[in-house]
Amino acid sequence: MPIRLRPACEDGDPELFFPTGTTGMAVLQIEEAKAVCRRCPLMESCLQGALERNELGVWGGTDEDDRRGMKRRRARKRAAV
Ligand code: SF4
Repeated sequence: MPIRLRPACEDGDPELFFPTGTTGMAVLQIEEAKAVCRRCPLMESCLQGALERNELGVWGGTDEDDRRGMKRRRARKRAAV
């Protein structure tokens, strides 16, 4: 029987992953959400899905700024090839 991996955020407050803004208390909230992701067995696939769907909030251990940066770097790499 295949083992079903469970997301680390499964039983937590979903609001944690959708901070309002990127300053002040939101910074702490974002870091707290990322800490949950870092112990999640689905982090990589979650991140890939968030990149493909242009999600808002924290997914796969990244926030929106992180993912924008990743996309820019990927685009630059593709352009350089
Ligand atoms: S990586 Fe994705 S599934 Fe895992 S805790 Fe973070 S948001 Fe939830």
